[in-house]
Amino acid sequence: MFSGFSISIRQFTFSILLFISLSSTVFAANRIDGIRVWPAPENTRVVFDLKDKPDYKYFSLSNPERLVIDFKNSKNIVALKNLAKNDPRIKRIRTSTSKVKGTTRMVLELVENYQLTIFPLAPAGQYSNRLVVDLYDKNKKSTLVNKTNTVKSTVNTKRDVVIAIVAGHGGEDPGSIGARGTYEKRVTLKIAKELAKLINNKKGMKAVMIRTGDYYVNHDRKTKLARKSKADLLISIHADAFTSSKPSGASVLVQSPRRANSEFTRWIANREKESEMLGGAGETIKKTKDNNLAMTLADMGKEYTMGSSYDFATHAIKQLKKVTKLHKKKPEGLSLAVLKSSDIPSVLIETGFISNHQEEKKLNNAKHQRRLANAIYIATYDYFTSNPPKGTLLAATGYKKHKVSSGESLSVLAQRYKVSIAKLKSINNLKSNTVRIGQTLKIPRAG
Ligand SMILES: [Zn+2]
Repeated sequence: MFSGFSISIRQFTFSILLFISLSSTVFAANRIDGIRVWPAPENTRVVFDLKDKPDYKYFSLSNPERLVIDFKNSKNIVALKNLAKNDPRIKRIRTSTSKVKGTTRMVLELVENYQLTIFPLAPAGQYSNRLVVDLYDKNKKSTLVNKTNTVKSTVNTKRDVVIAIVAGHGGEDPGSIGARGTYEKRVTLKIAKELAKLINNKKGMKAVMIRTGDYYVNHDRKTKLARKSKADLLISIHADAFTSSKPSGASVLVQSPRRANSEFTRWIANREKESEMLGGAGETIKKTKDNNLAMTLADMGKEYTMGSSYDFATHAIKQLKKVTKLHKKKPEGLSLAVLKSSDIPSVLIETGFISNHQEEKKLNNAKHQRRLANAIYIATYDYFTSNPPKGTLLAATGYKKHKVSSGESLSVLAQRYKVSIAKLKSINNLKSNTVRIGQTLKIPRAG
């Protein structure tokens, strides 16, 4: 009795399941709710918003070039007419008839044949299920990146110090969103543009913007672009967010080392002695046949990069605290993807908390954005004039620092460093010839 009853329950359950799975294919259709097109210098990203996880297939056709995507059991409610109006790679997005009932067939009419990446994204933040289509230019030399820079001084043979600036997020990725509706991606781009302007106005320095508009640049691409532009430093600009609106203030993050933090701090303190060797490690690595030595040196090279990052971060904090509250008073060592796998000294600057109401307001304010940009700019200038890379104009024209000790006068220093008293006075903004013990003076490097 019991067993017979239980069998009939099982059969009953089975037939319900069967009914549900059948009905879902027939009735419970997915829906395309939105389509966004994000043109970038080297690619276009198209994002389909869907009610449920997409069940899709795609193929390419040529003459003319097309990408066809079939969304199974889906209907489309998006008006397609002007979607790709401003895109250089997509002529038109339209639907076409599929032989499979219930399938929505999307056709992207393309200008040429692109390298293709298609992947679904799970719901996140303001977004529901998505299907992302990336169309990358093939074999095309990338037009890097800052058009204003190409005309910069070609007279001197000494190169510029190059600072790559990443405005955090962009395009499909808005970053944090404040209560007033401020998008992190917009704030970061504005600060980044101000920073680039200040850097480009300085002789001997050049900014390269890794993102110049509202589009997303993935991590590998960022690193590649920064390397290609031979960046001496990579600065990522962000604005923080927290679940509570309480925290506020800026912080600067550097890549955390694998070794213990205290040990890292000790190493940072002692690295001056070794920095020459570490900085030149590249050549030795290339030449040596000793694999162990090469690996050790390569590791030390990484640490050298981290040391420089930390140094710059300290400069950045010193300047930022003049224009904004600090969230953290020391550089934070974090293992973030943006800072990883880079042989370029890299820092990430959180310019403030977008989740804090007052700070959201400030981050939106053009004047405050300029102040933040200026603080970061002064940090780069200070850092590179005291640590100029070899072969740069700043190495020839920058200054080093000297702390005045007892018995040292301006004329003694002028003589020792082979520079005129007048020059010393002017670059240090000194009104008289008096210097005090402990005062730090800028000393011009020999030209
Ligand atoms: Zn961010």
